[in-house]
Amino acid sequence: MNILVLNCGSSSAKFAVLETTHGGELISGIAQRLGSPEASLDWKLSGTKGTRALPGADHAVALRAVVDLLRAHGLADALSGVGHRVVHGGARFSGSRELTAEVIAMVEECVPLGPLHNPANLTGIAIARELFPDLRQVGVFDTAFHQTMPPRAFLYPVPYAWYSDHQVRRYGFHGTSHRFVSQQAIAQLALDPADNALITAHLGNGCSCAAVRNGQSVDTTMGLTPLEGLVMGTRSGSIDPAIIGHMAKTLGASEAAILDALNKKSGLLGVSGLSNDMRTLEEAARGGHARAALAIEIFCFVLSKSIASLVVPLGRLDALVFTGGIGENSANVRARVIDQLGFLGLSIDPEANARHGREEGGRVSRETRPQAVVVPTNEELLIARDAAAIVAGSAAV
Ligand code: ADP
Repeated sequence: MNILVLNCGSSSAKFAVLETTHGGELISGIAQRLGSPEASLDWKLSGTKGTRALPGADHAVALRAVVDLLRAHGLADALSGVGHRVVHGGARFSGSRELTAEVIAMVEECVPLGPLHNPANLTGIAIARELFPDLRQVGVFDTAFHQTMPPRAFLYPVPYAWYSDHQVRRYGFHGTSHRFVSQQAIAQLALDPADNALITAHLGNGCSCAAVRNGQSVDTTMGLTPLEGLVMGTRSGSIDPAIIGHMAKTLGASEAAILDALNKKSGLLGVSGLSNDMRTLEEAARGGHARAALAIEIFCFVLSKSIASLVVPLGRLDALVFTGGIGENSANVRARVIDQLGFLGLSIDPEANARHGREEGGRVSRETRPQAVVVPTNEELLIARDAAAIVAGSAAV
């Protein structure tokens, strides 16, 4: 089945058409810098790249250009459905769902929980329904995989009414990636499907870890929003919440301005003062840039501490799984983290660590348990497969 996968952000729209039986990608691309004179559509089709300027395009113009592109290559008529990445599903969604009017209204109810992401997701859904009125649309939620967390993991120790009346709790994100790589790791390592304990580390621009017991998320590092937890490209991750009021007062700034700094000017970028990009920082650190080196050190230290803490909900550890742009590509980050977690029995295999990465994945530690492995993530494929299953007749996945 051919499925169009859409992932709409505030100024971008990623798309791909996947054939779900073999998992092959027929076309993929991104419309970016939407709303600006530099807006463009870039794509990859059968190994060749293409680009088209779309000055001033908004999401609607960009998605129409995507449809033109699919038509030009005979892909538009062969579609069986559309799968949408939706960031915040609150506690309403524990699996993927067909986006009926009723379900879309439920996604709208989640906007206060995901104000930075859900409005763009809803824009994409509305436009796709107009462009493809005959195709079924499916929502795949970043939060859904973590709905199996028990209350001790998802409740914050704050006044209980914040939870019962205002939905304040840990939701967790990157669920599609944690689900995909944990399923892959269980199969690749031939673990007992009914008795296994994994920690999955999704390290991209956003970063989160999940504790996955027998295929179910039992704890994770992101919280009510994707700001909590690990050090990320531009997000601080967990800090003393009193810093927000303290810095608002000190700088005479609004709480919104401080939160903006924690979301967009912190993390690797904030500490290094140079970049949010790990590859750039690794190059700079090798060239002697002290704060780039410090940013990487803090990133790996916080990550290692978080992984160690996630062994508690699991009770043991069979495997540590690295994924995302940093997890798949940075042998340096993997080696540092595994070294700091030596007390868990993890031990780096330098040759395997240098060899295994994004291209093929594989073991990066010695063969003793627990093992550390790279599993390249493929969120688009899981979104396409969920959509295909629902189009084929399942009520939910
Ligand atoms: P997103 O979360 O936006 O999907 P990615 O998963 O692509 O992002 O991850 C982006 C991160 O991966 C960036 O910090 C980038 O520097 C890092 N990265 C990509 N390739 C390498 C590499 N070869 N070495 C180190 N870091 C890398």
